[in-house]
Amino acid sequence: MTDRDSNNRILIVGTIPEMCADRRAKGSLSCSDPDGQHEGEFSQLETLLIERRAQTRDLPDGFRIHTALDEGGAIEMVRQAVARKKPYALAFVGIDTSPGVESFDTIERMWETDPELQIVVCSADAGTAWIECTERLGHSDRLLLLRKPFDHAEVWQVALSLIEKWNLGRQASVKLDEMHEIARATNEKLHEQIKKRAEVEEELRYLAYHDQVTGLPNRVYLLDRIEQCIARSHRVPGYRYAVLYLDLDNFKLVNDSMGHDCGDKLLQDVAQRLRTCMRTIDTVARIEEDVAARVGGDEFIVLLEGLHDLKDSARVAERFIEVLGRPFRLDGREITICASIGIATSERKYVRAQEVLRDADTAMYRAKSRGKGRYAIFDPEMHEAAKRRLEIESKLRDAICHEQFQIAYQPIVDVRSSELVGFEALFRCHLPGIETTPQEIINIAEETGLIMQMGCWVFRRACQDFRTWLDKFPHAGDLRISINLSRRELVDDDLIESVRSTLHETNVPVGQVCIEITESGIIENGDRAIVRLRELRGLGAQLHMDDFGTGYSSLSCLHTFPLDAVKIDRAFTATMTKDTRYIAVVKAIVTLCRALGMRVTVEGIETPEQLELVDSLGCDLAQGFLFARPMSSEAVQDLLRSTPDRLMAA
Ligand code: C2E
Ligand code: MG
Ligand code: MG
Repeated sequence: MTDRDSNNRILIVGTIPEMCADRRAKGSLSCSDPDGQHEGEFSQLETLLIERRAQTRDLPDGFRIHTALDEGGAIEMVRQAVARKKPYALAFVGIDTSPGVESFDTIERMWETDPELQIVVCSADAGTAWIECTERLGHSDRLLLLRKPFDHAEVWQVALSLIEKWNLGRQASVKLDEMHEIARATNEKLHEQIKKRAEVEEELRYLAYHDQVTGLPNRVYLLDRIEQCIARSHRVPGYRYAVLYLDLDNFKLVNDSMGHDCGDKLLQDVAQRLRTCMRTIDTVARIEEDVAARVGGDEFIVLLEGLHDLKDSARVAERFIEVLGRPFRLDGREITICASIGIATSERKYVRAQEVLRDADTAMYRAKSRGKGRYAIFDPEMHEAAKRRLEIESKLRDAICHEQFQIAYQPIVDVRSSELVGFEALFRCHLPGIETTPQEIINIAEETGLIMQMGCWVFRRACQDFRTWLDKFPHAGDLRISINLSRRELVDDDLIESVRSTLHETNVPVGQVCIEITESGIIENGDRAIVRLRELRGLGAQLHMDDFGTGYSSLSCLHTFPLDAVKIDRAFTATMTKDTRYIAVVKAIVTLCRALGMRVTVEGIETPEQLELVDSLGCDLAQGFLFARPMSSEAVQDLLRSTPDRLMAA
C-alpha cells in the first residue's frame, strides 16, 4: 500500500456538536456530503483536527473529515464508503449517557457495515459512559473513549494514532493476502509437480514392466507373476501352473535380411497371435535380455496359471506352434517362421521364478535340437545337459583365445582305383577336463556363433597346410582339399571376401578347394543359400553337399543348387548294409547325380563289404576308417612320402 492509498478518512457523527456545545464548544458540527464538500461551520472537533494539519509530517494531506448529522445518515455514509472502497478509518461518535442506547445501536450497525471501522466514543461523563459502553459493546481495540472537553493534542494524537493503526492493519492484511497468494501459487505449483512426478513415475513403472516393441509385460513383470504362482502352489494343494518358453526359429534371418522395422512388426504380430489363443488370466511376456548366455530378442514367455491338468500346457504349446506356423505378411511378402517351445511346470517344486525360467529355457533348447517347430517338457536330465553345454562353451572360448586348435585330415579315395584323391579338413580341439566329440563342439560353436572365428581359422590353416603338401610333393599336385563351412558362415555377409582373400594369400589352386556345406544348412537358407553358393562358385571353388540323407533327403530339389558333388552321410552308409531299401535310395541318388553332372562321395566306409557295395552302386569317392582315420598334417606328409603312387590299401 502506498502513501497515496493510505486512508485518512474520518467520520464525525453529528450528535457531537450538542455534546461539544454543552461545555467548551466553540462551534457546532454541520453535516457535509460524503465527497467531503464541507458546508457550514466546522465543529470544534473538526477545527481541532484541521488546525493540526500543518503540523503533521505523517499525513501530508491531513485528515479528510466527513460529518453526519444524525445516526441514520452516519450508517448510510459508512455503507457508501465501504461500497466505494474508500472506508473510514475511524469515526467519532458522541454519546450522552441518558439517551445513549441509540448511540450504541448506531455503533453496532456501523460495525455491521464496516467491521474494521474504529470508533472513538466521545463523552463528557467518562466513567459511567465507559462502563455502559463496554457492557454494551464489549472490550475491543476498535473502541476508544475520548473524554470531553477535548484536549487539542489528545484529539489530534488519537486521530493520528488510529489512522496509523488502521493503515498498518490494512498493510498487514494486504501483505497477508500477498503471502496467501504466494502460498496458494506455490501450493498449486507443488501440486502440479507432484502430479507430473506421479505421471513420470507411472510412465517409468510402465517402462520397467513392459517391452517397448510389443507392449507386452517384460521379464521383470513376469518374474513377479511367476513368484506369485510359486507361492500359491505351495499354499494351495492342487494349484498348478506352467511356463512356456518360446523361441522363434528364423527370426534373426528376417531381422537381418528385411531390417529391424520388419523384425519389430513381426514380433508385434507374433505377440498378437499368442494373445488370441490364450485365456485372460494367462500372461505372455517378451524377453529382451540375454538368457542363459544366448542373445534374445525373439523369445516369449507364456505363464499359464491355475491349470486343471498340466498336460494342457502341451496342448497350448501345440496350438502356439500351429498358429505361429501360419505365414505372416511383412512388407508385402509372406514370411514363414516357426517356434520352438520349452515347458516347465509346477510338478517340480520350484522356489524361485528364475529356476522355472531356466528350466523352460533348457527344455526349449532341447526342443530346438530336435528340429524346428517342436516343444519339449523339462526333465532333470536336460538340466545336466545344459550345464555341460555351458561348460563346453566357456572352455571353447578359452581355447579360441589361445588358438588351441588343430586340424585332422582324413583321406578321400577313388572307389574304383583306391587312389588317394584328397583330404577332408576336420576341426579338432582338446578341452581340458571334459570328454567331448568334435561334433558336439561344432554344434555348440554353431549355436553360440563361436563357429565364425573357428571356421575362419580352419579355412586359413587348411589352405596353408595344403599349399605345403603341394610344394613338397610333386605327385600330390592334383589333390583336393575339402573344408567344411557351417550354416552360419554360409549366410555371413563377410564370407565371400574372407574366402577370396584367404585363397589369394595362401596361393592355393582354387579349383582344387572343395567347400562342404551340410544339406540342412543349404535347405534351411533357401534362396539366400543359392545366392551364396553361386558366389562361392564364382570364386572357382567346388561345392559339395555334406551329410546328404540325414534329414531332408532333398532329392527333388538337388538340381536347384549349384553343386559339384554330394556326400552321402556315414549314418546312411551304416544302415545301408543292414536295410536293403537304403540301397535303392543310394542307387537313385547316384543316377540323379550322374544326370546332373555331380559326383557322389560316400562317408563312413568301415568294411570291405561297404566298399564293395558302394562300388557296385556306382559311387565315385569314399572316405572312412577302412582307408584311414583323420590324421595330423605331419601324418599326411608321411603318407604322401610313403605312397608315391597314392594308392591306399583298403
Ligand atoms: P563331416 O563333415 O560329415 O565329417 C565326417 C565325419 O565323419 C568326421 O567326424 C569323421 O571323423 C567321421 N568319419 C569319417 N570316417 C568315418 C568312419 O568310417 N566311421 C565313423 N563312425 N565316422 C567317420 P568328426 O571329425 O567328428 O566331424 C564331425 C562333423 O563336424 C563333421 O562331419 C562336420 O560336419 C563337422 N566339422 C568338423 N570339422 C569342421 C569344421 O572345421 N568346420 C565345420 N563347419 N564343421 C566341421
Ligand atoms: Mg564334411
Ligand atoms: Mg559328412
